[in-house]
Amino acid sequence: MNKLLKALSIASIAHKDQKRKGDGGAPYINHLIEVAYLLSEYAQINDCRVLEAAILHDVLEDTAIQKETLLEEFGQVVLFYIESVTDDKTLSLSERREAQLRHISAASMEVKLIKLADHCSNVASIPPDWDRARVVEYLEWSYQVASKCFVANENLEKIYVSRFAASMKVLESV
Ligand code: ZN
Repeated sequence: MNKLLKALSIASIAHKDQKRKGDGGAPYINHLIEVAYLLSEYAQINDCRVLEAAILHDVLEDTAIQKETLLEEFGQVVLFYIESVTDDKTLSLSERREAQLRHISAASMEVKLIKLADHCSNVASIPPDWDRARVVEYLEWSYQVASKCFVANENLEKIYVSRFAASMKVLESV
């Protein structure tokens, strides 16, 4: 429990100046809390290491937090989960996506769970200023990744599929 609160504290400080592009520009921490909550509530995850990694899943990609800090504070397993869902930002977008698809297929159930919960959150908060082509492209990409994670949890799969369908429906009415 203490570590979980520490993860929240570190993430809230690290992401303090970031906002969601969708979700009406909500504070970024809302996304991280949602991802952890989806895992706890719908996938019944009570392994704190998975929940800590869920809260911290974007810190390496989007903040100045270093691997060493995560290793020291949360240990090797949590760091491994976080690194497994972190893109190599030196690659181009298409290279990153290719690498992600390759990695996620071979990833552990814990990593697939975090990724699936992340996409459950993202697919429901498409930035309103994206044009149709960008939304379609994003949804297609998201589905490719998420569907490789469905095996990890049936409830999260259902949530993803229904949120995906809702986003597609909005698109049809545009
Ligand atoms: Zn995320």
